[in-house]
Amino acid sequence: MPNQLIAGYERFRSGYFRQNEAHLRALAGGQSPTVALISCCDSRVSPAILFDAAPGDLFIIRNVANLVPPYESEGRYHGTSAALEFAVKALEVADIVVLGHARCGGIRALLEGAGGGDRQSFLGRWMEIAAPALTRLAATDEAAPEARQRACEREALALSLENLLTFPWLKARVEAGRLAIHGWYYDVVEGTLHRLDPRTRALEAIAGGGAEAKNLKPEA
Ligand SMILES: [Zn+2]
Repeated sequence: MPNQLIAGYERFRSGYFRQNEAHLRALAGGQSPTVALISCCDSRVSPAILFDAAPGDLFIIRNVANLVPPYESEGRYHGTSAALEFAVKALEVADIVVLGHARCGGIRALLEGAGGGDRQSFLGRWMEIAAPALTRLAATDEAAPEARQRACEREALALSLENLLTFPWLKARVEAGRLAIHGWYYDVVEGTLHRLDPRTRALEAIAGGGAEAKNLKPEA
């Protein structure tokens, strides 16, 4: 038995739950988060902690490498697409944030050959979603492994933003001004948060303090 989970739950029951019992019981009547967030499974990327969010605040969709697949009308199992559909059509969230991150193991696997058509591997097939990011990367001159990985993480993030707009009901809401989509990038090394400019692939600091705060720009 994972005893650290049991001990953690006991701390939650005697601490957070007791202190926030009214809010938590009210939430039992229904959720109405305004933000859907797609993040990686990576244990270092913990959205509720990163954004100091409470239960009920964020509708979080996690998968390997925070990828959004393109819209497909065929195929049988679409966990991320199903969650997106629920967030957009049922919860009617106002914002979708795709949260990329530095040192992503999924992106590293892609750079090392996953996504190259290994039909026997679930991971390989999943990372095929990001294969176009790798193709675009080949056109750049990033050669050093760390820089190349960061560039690939940015390309994959941009690709996921593009793929979001292939879902017709999502695109319609964006065009009607009822829904906004954002690509953010969390640096697990520096602890900083950036916004991706999908056109230039540049990262603009939106949080994290220090010298980077001067680059603060309003959200689009
Ligand atoms: Zn990751």
